[in-house]
Amino acid sequence: MTENTADTAPDLDRLRAGAPPRNHDARTIAALTANPGCARRGVLDAAGVDKDAVARHLGFGTPFGQSQFALARGNAFEAQVKADGCAELLTLLRDRLGLAVAEVFYDDLAVEDGESREARHARTRRLLARALDSAEGTLFDHPMLRLDIAGHPAYLEPDVIAFQLGGRFHVVEIKSFAVVDGQAEPEQVAAAARQAAVYVLALRRLVAELGHDPARVAHEIFLVCPEDFSNRPSATPVDVRPQLAVLERQLARLTRVRDILADLPPDLSFALDEGLGDAVRAVGARYAPECVSGCEMAYFCRDEARACGATGVLGRGVRDDLGGVDTVGAALALARGTAEPPAELAETAALLRTAARLRREALGGAA
Ligand code: SF4
Repeated sequence: MTENTADTAPDLDRLRAGAPPRNHDARTIAALTANPGCARRGVLDAAGVDKDAVARHLGFGTPFGQSQFALARGNAFEAQVKADGCAELLTLLRDRLGLAVAEVFYDDLAVEDGESREARHARTRRLLARALDSAEGTLFDHPMLRLDIAGHPAYLEPDVIAFQLGGRFHVVEIKSFAVVDGQAEPEQVAAAARQAAVYVLALRRLVAELGHDPARVAHEIFLVCPEDFSNRPSATPVDVRPQLAVLERQLARLTRVRDILADLPPDLSFALDEGLGDAVRAVGARYAPECVSGCEMAYFCRDEARACGATGVLGRGVRDDLGGVDTVGAALALARGTAEPPAELAETAALLRTAARLRREALGGAA
């Protein structure tokens, strides 16, 4: 545990008010990096708060994530590919892709009775160390990985397999969307690549911790999907280097949770009681319309942002262009010249007045 983690851990446990922490998965981390400046999301996620339960308690619940049908289909396809020690997956890698995957040890790291996340991570670490030293073919299923998110470790439970080929590990991402005539929906492939990049990064950091070259985790992952509307799996290599670069850059930019916690009331907690709304509002948010597709809190934050006229409601571009002008009302007052700007907003105010004059002229010309 890092010094930083040791400092923040008791505060983060208190924020959950006794509820067990929610584990991250690659989907939540990929979404987290979509709004790196949001302190509210940073704190809720770092503490492992169940954001879905919080939003529902506040009356802003929303069906979020995959449909039940898609989940059931995904689980069935994954179980099929992984059955009998991943027999179908191995056939696919050897016969269809022609890979010389050696005889493998199949290690299922799924949770054992009463096992903590830390103990499971330690088990993953031991098995990975053994595989790195022996360079023997090894398949890992359900490894428990860890990734530092905003100065706090997030545990990842990928339903994923890593296999070793020529001394390098490759991540296999199993998805239930169809590949038809060798083509899949580009957006779905991009989302799968973003998630796989999270696993590659977490595995690389673990390999580095174990004293090996992180490049032993390949940037080429294998995407396994059903082929041509059948249940027959196909495997496609995908280079996730661009997604890795974005992920590393955005994780480095995430607001440090310790700094945020220092400014919060010392007794703050997100217990599901009548004080929950005030507790959530005590942590600053950076709402933008993109939140609706990436965060369980989106409808609560949108309502709050609309009520105070936050510029983010108009989109991230408008908010960024307006810099330190936080509300639409303040922007209008500066544009009309009815408010005196502070020195640091003088340039923005001049631009707003110019834009307002041009608009008046254009409307006058049209009339
Ligand atoms: S919905 Fe709210 S908490 Fe979530 S990222 Fe957006 S502003 Fe932050």
